[in-house]
Amino acid sequence: MWLALLTVAFVLTVALSTPWDWLPGAQLGRVDPTAGLPPEQIDRIAAYREQVVPVGLLGALASLVLAVFLGLTRRGARLVRRLPGARWWWLQVVVAVIVLQLLGRVVSLTSAIRAEQVRHEFGLSTQGWWGWGADQLTAYAVGVVTISLLALLVVGLWRRVRRWWFPASLFAAALVVAGSFLYPLVVEPLFAHFTPMPDGAVRSSLLALADRDGVAVDEVLVADASARTTSLNAYVSGFGATKRIVVYDTLLTRATPTEIRLVVAHELGHAENGDVLSGTLMGALGAAAGVTLLALIVKSPRTRRTAGYGGPRDAAVVPAVLALVALGSFFALPVHNVVSRAVEARADLHALELTADPGTFAAAQRRLALANLSTPDPPGLLYVWYASHPTVSQRLALAAAWSAAREPG
Ligand SMILES: [Zn+2]
Repeated sequence: MWLALLTVAFVLTVALSTPWDWLPGAQLGRVDPTAGLPPEQIDRIAAYREQVVPVGLLGALASLVLAVFLGLTRRGARLVRRLPGARWWWLQVVVAVIVLQLLGRVVSLTSAIRAEQVRHEFGLSTQGWWGWGADQLTAYAVGVVTISLLALLVVGLWRRVRRWWFPASLFAAALVVAGSFLYPLVVEPLFAHFTPMPDGAVRSSLLALADRDGVAVDEVLVADASARTTSLNAYVSGFGATKRIVVYDTLLTRATPTEIRLVVAHELGHAENGDVLSGTLMGALGAAAGVTLLALIVKSPRTRRTAGYGGPRDAAVVPAVLALVALGSFFALPVHNVVSRAVEARADLHALELTADPGTFAAAQRRLALANLSTPDPPGLLYVWYASHPTVSQRLALAAAWSAAREPG
């Protein structure tokens, strides 16, 4: 009943708050994203994708298969029973998460190293191996903390409360909201340094743009992304008191002032529409429904037999929890991305409205794609599963349709 209620709330929120119609009242045509681009550049993107995509997929698949192998057979439970920390249940849960997450990293390590090598070869990564290793360790630690919180929540409540999926789902939703709020303060500084944009023509022009847009922005932050990458990017994160607009320093050094304005105009669209907050709310409802489902599966006698753990007092349930979370996250990706693409298209539309220069918008999209080696047209399933943004070709079509709708007559 509770699960049904949460699922309906989640589906309704997603259905009603997603701008499904990218450009209301207009038909998006097809635009050749490679038109006017030098063929050797197009070949270079293709060569990069051919090397990096299979490696990335292989790494993701390896961790997923390992999680299922350990969590949905008795092997993971057996492994957890052999780990130290059995004196306190919470310690045993945390040790299990530390070890299982480490194994997940290890099986995908060769893929991760190879992908970084390819990024180096193509000039996309500027990081040394020490820095890269440190980032991997940090990401691992962040993963351990997040997953430990979830596992402690599940096991802790199961031990104490009879209808424990109810408080567990509420806590999971609260964790998502708190996580999204604190992310800019706690997680982002682990991977980059942020400084206020220095005074000057660019800053004044961006603040004037925000002002014209009616978005309250008193600071644009610059991330020292150039220590890691040559790619050009910007984003909005946090909400309420932690809301911020961040641009990569690479954007400031390598893009033209017009391109920077376009990128920031897109981010202002996210800020004005409250995309981070609505994404967080959808995530919170999704997490609540997901954790309720997880609880139902985990407590069922059939799963207990398959995965070889006992009742609520048994920390050997952790591999099963991790496997279900890994499977759930993997199958949630297409849902997340279909919503994300619609929200990104709305931010593009905002940039078009604000700058009223579809020609420059299109040129900038092409140039950004070249700089970031992003493929103009990813194949079907990759698009459905992994594309969080509209493709270059879709963004060009959006600009064309937007300007056609505004032409007189
Ligand atoms: Zn965006």
